[in-house]
Amino acid sequence: SKKVKSDIEIAQEAVMKPIKEIAEGLNLREDEWEPFGHYKAKISLDVMKRLQNAPDGKVILVTSINPTPAGEGKSTVTVGLGQALNKIGHKTIVALREPSLGPTMGIKGGASGGGYSQVMPMEDINLHFTGDFHAITTANNALAAFLDNHIHQGNECQIDTRRITWKRVVDLNDRALRQVVVGLGGPLQGVPREDGFNITVASEIMAILCLAKDLTDLKEKLSNIVVGYSFNKQPVTVRDLGVQGALTLLLKEAVKPNLVQTLENTPAIVHGGPFANIAHGCNSIIATKLASKLGDYVITEAGFGADLGAEKFLNIKSRLGNIDPKAVVIVATIRALKMHGGVDKANLTVENLDALKTGMQNLQKHIETVQSFGLPFVVAINRFITDTDKEVEYIEKWCEEKDYDVALSDVWEKGGEGGIDLAVKLLRVLEKQEGNFKPLYELNDSIEAKIETIAKKVYGAVAVDFIPKVRKQIEEYKSLGWDKLPVCMAKTQYSLSDDPAKLGRPEGFTITVRELRPSIGAGFLVALTGDVMTMPGLPKKPAALNMDVDADGKAIGLF
Ligand code: ADP
Repeated sequence: SKKVKSDIEIAQEAVMKPIKEIAEGLNLREDEWEPFGHYKAKISLDVMKRLQNAPDGKVILVTSINPTPAGEGKSTVTVGLGQALNKIGHKTIVALREPSLGPTMGIKGGASGGGYSQVMPMEDINLHFTGDFHAITTANNALAAFLDNHIHQGNECQIDTRRITWKRVVDLNDRALRQVVVGLGGPLQGVPREDGFNITVASEIMAILCLAKDLTDLKEKLSNIVVGYSFNKQPVTVRDLGVQGALTLLLKEAVKPNLVQTLENTPAIVHGGPFANIAHGCNSIIATKLASKLGDYVITEAGFGADLGAEKFLNIKSRLGNIDPKAVVIVATIRALKMHGGVDKANLTVENLDALKTGMQNLQKHIETVQSFGLPFVVAINRFITDTDKEVEYIEKWCEEKDYDVALSDVWEKGGEGGIDLAVKLLRVLEKQEGNFKPLYELNDSIEAKIETIAKKVYGAVAVDFIPKVRKQIEEYKSLGWDKLPVCMAKTQYSLSDDPAKLGRPEGFTITVRELRPSIGAGFLVALTGDVMTMPGLPKKPAALNMDVDADGKAIGLF
C-alpha cells in the first residue's frame, strides 16, 4: 500500500499563492488589507463599512456528533467543502478558529484541517500566526497587572482580594500555574493574594474579541468585564478601573481578521478561538460576517459536537451577531458512531453493524437538534480507509429511510474533488428548503428556563437540578440585572448528558448545574455542569517530544 503522507508533509509540498492574489480574488482594495509576510494578511475593518449594504452570502455551519477519541474531522470537512464549492464554481470562503498552542504542544492532532483539506501556512497557523493570541494574552495580563496595582495603590474600589475572579493567562498547557500566590515579598511587592492562570483561549477577552462587532463594541464589552467584588459584594468592572481604552488599544490589530488560503487556494479567514465549554467555541463574528460579505458561501465550524458548538453558534453567536445561518452540515465518522455503539478504540477497524446501528442514535439526536432550530442539514460521512462497504451502505440506507440527505466525504484523501457530492447535496438542500433559523429560547426567559430549554431540547434530559448555591446565584444575578443574557453551557463534550461515560443517546437523565459564572463583558452567563478544566495539563508524552526544526528552519513533527 502507498505510504500515507502526514499533514505537515502535504502542507510543505503545497504551492501557495502570494496573499495579494487571494485578496484580489476577493475584490479587496489595496488599502483594505495589509500583508503579514508572503502568505498571510490582516483585513481592515473598513471593508465592513464599505460593504454594509452588500447582500450576505449564505452561512453554513459545520458541526458533528459527540466527539470520541476516534476523531470526527470537522475542520477537515469544513476546509474540504469550501474547496469543493469553489471547484464547482461557487465563490466560497472558509471561516475557521485559530488553534491554541497549549493543545498543539500537548496532544497530537492539528487544528487546521487534515490530509488534502488544510489551511495554509499550517506551521504558522499552528504556532504564533499573526500574534492575535499573544495580544489577547497581553491584554488579559495587563488587566491583571492594573488590578493588582489598583489594590497596591490604596484600593479605591475597595476590592475584596478574596473575591477577585479575574485570572492571568498563558497560551500553554501548564498545570503548575493553576493555583498560585502573587504579591509575596513584603509591602513593596504588592498585596499577597491567591491567584491562578487559565489557558489564553479560556480568557474572557478571547470570547469578547470573538463576539465584538467593531472597535467601539469591543471597548464597550471590555468595559463590562467583572474582575471581582468589593467588600460590600458589589461587582467591580474594568470601567471602574478605567483601563478599557488601554485594553482596546492592545487589541486593535488582533481584532482584524486574518486572511490565508487552503491547499487549493480557497480563501480562508482564520480568526479567534475561544474554548467551547466556558466560552462559545466559534471563530469571530467579525470574520464570519466579513466572509459573508466577500463570498457567496461561508463554511464555518464550531467546537465539539452539535450539543455544545452548534447550540452556542446558534443561540449565542448568531443571535448576538445577527447572523442568519442557512444550513448545517453534521459530520460523523463510522468509527466514532461505532464507539457510540459500545465498541472500544482498539476494535474500530473490525466491521460491526450492530454497534453502528446503536451508535446512529447519537447522530439522530443531533439531527433533531438542528431541526429544532429550523435549519436544513446534510449528514457528511467523513470516510476513513478502514470503513467497510457494508457499513457505508448501512448509513446510506438509514438516511434514505428517514429522508435525510447524506453525502460521503473524501476530502481528507482527495481534497475538494472528494467533497463535490457533499457540495452538490448541500446546494440542493439550500434550494429545496428555506432556512428558517430561530434561537431556541428568548433572552427574556428566566435563567432557569433558558437552561432547561437547552437541557431538554438539545441534550434530551428529563430535568435540570440546580444545586442550592446556584439558586442563590440566580437570585443575585437577577438583582444585578444579569438575567437577560444568553447562557453558555459548560458540559462534557463526550456525552449528551453531563456524564462523559454515557455515550450514544442516553435517556432519562438529569443535568445538574453546579455553578454559574458571569461573563458580563462577553455578554453571557456560564452554567457549569461539572468540573471544567480552564488550564489543561500536558500528557505523559507530549507531542512536543516529536517536534523539531532543521538547520534550514523547516518545521518537523507538527503532526
Ligand atoms: P475536528 O475538527 O473534528 O477536531 P480535524 O478535522 O481537526 O477534526 O481532524 C483531526 C485529525 O484527524 C487530523 O489530524 C486529520 O488529519 C485527521 N483526519 C480527519 N479526517 C480523516 C480521514 N477521513 N482519514 C484519516 N484521517 C483523518
